[in-house]
Amino acid sequence: MERIYIGMGSNLADPADQLRSAVQALTQLPDSRFVAVSAFYQSDSLLPGQPRYTNAVAAIDSTLAPLDLLDALQAIELDQGRERHERWGPRTLDLDILLFGDRLIEEPRLKVPHYHMHARPFVLYPLAELAPASLTLADGRSLEQLLADCPFVGLERLER
Ligand code: ATP
Ligand code: CA
Ligand code: CA
Repeated sequence: MERIYIGMGSNLADPADQLRSAVQALTQLPDSRFVAVSAFYQSDSLLPGQPRYTNAVAAIDSTLAPLDLLDALQAIELDQGRERHERWGPRTLDLDILLFGDRLIEEPRLKVPHYHMHARPFVLYPLAELAPASLTLADGRSLEQLLADCPFVGLERLER
């Protein structure tokens, strides 16, 4: 089993409800055990003119191969009405593989650690609820360092 962290985001069709449905779907993944989900965080879209986002991070343990997990996550996205139009467009559900054990993955379809996680407060702060601050990425950077370089700005932690 490897510990995997999954970033979840939505800004359409009741985002919190989308994330709750996604959590439910993650508990049903084959060859996997659901571990935990962070609180939900709201923030403005990085692109202007889009509804606010709700984000969270989930942890699972799994023996799935990385590309099989990506297929399963994309199936969940489609199941929840994800449509791909423009890049970074509004979406009912986005599931990104942030970390997969301590692996460094450089496949055409899959880069892990996720390329943009280092600079995204809506990824790092929920991740820090689940992962130890000493957690170190394959490139040597610790979560603690990433958080220090990524202020808690523009984020609203929702109470459940
Ligand atoms: P961003 O990657 O900046 O968060 P996005 O999530 O909106 O943007 P998508 O349109 O959801 O981007 O995904 C585009 C492609 O990224 C996917 O088809 C997938 O093959 C690829 N991809 C690469 N690395 C990952 C990863 N770690 N997790 C999920 N998808 C990934
Ligand atoms: Ca994303
Ligand atoms: Ca994505």
